[in-house]
Amino acid sequence: MSVDIDVTDQSWLAGLRASLSEEFAVQTTRLKELTEISADTGDPGEAHNRAALVAATRHSLEQISGALRRIAEDSYGRCETCDKPIPAERLEVLPHARFCVPCQQKHPR
Ligand SMILES: [Zn+2]
Repeated sequence: MSVDIDVTDQSWLAGLRASLSEEFAVQTTRLKELTEISADTGDPGEAHNRAALVAATRHSLEQISGALRRIAEDSYGRCETCDKPIPAERLEVLPHARFCVPCQQKHPR
């Protein structure tokens, strides 16, 4: 499956913004569920899993809101380090990519 990505295409950006907003809502609900349910079963394994899940959900919320902010600031699709355009193939697999591949490799996260 191939998607034509053109980060200067406003209608494409609008679609991306819509799907990111939707994803943001889904993850927010999940985070709420994870943190609100008092499921202290006394099982340290489960508590550990839950903590990991909360951390992962928070991380993806940060990534999504970062991408939404870059769309709003008109800097979406450009590397935050070298300001070069991030290749469309990379954005296709990683819509919230902040760096181009060479910069990402220099700054492992
Ligand atoms: Zn770069």
